[in-house]
Formats: sequence, C-alpha cells, structure tokens
Amino acid sequence: MFATMVVDLDHLLATPVYDPDRCGIGFHLLHSYPAIGVYLVLSMTGRTRLIGLGLVIHMVLDWIDCIWMAL
Ligand SMILES: [Zn+2]
Repeated sequence: MFATMVVDLDHLLATPVYDPDRCGIGFHLLHSYPAIGVYLVLSMTGRTRLIGLGLVIHMVLDWIDCIWMAL
C-alpha cells in the first residue's frame, strides 16, 4: 500500500502543489492515461497485483474527485 502513497508525490511536483479546482487525472505524470494503463497491467499480474490494485484504486478516487468538481 506504500506505493499508492508514493504516487501522490507527483502531486507535489505540480505547480501549484494543491489546486482544489484541478483534476489530477491526466495532469500529473503518474496520473496520466499511459500510467493508468501500466497500473491496470500491474493489477492483473501475479506479484505486483496488490500494488497495481492499490494504484488503480487511487486513480479511481482521484477520478471521483474530478467528477465532483465537474458537477
Ligand atoms: Zn493522486
């Protein structure tokens, strides 16, 4: 589950670090669509399944935030 927190470090690389009106999905490097594809693959393969699953869940939660913003 640690890796799922590490992925949020790329939020810190963004300027401004925290913007409540910004959708993180597709904006941050580790939240880009290619990265999400990698997480999906990780979540389906043996040893990295838990890490991949945690990352996918993280992306889903960030994505739900985006939906709330859009409403
Ligand atoms: Zn995030």
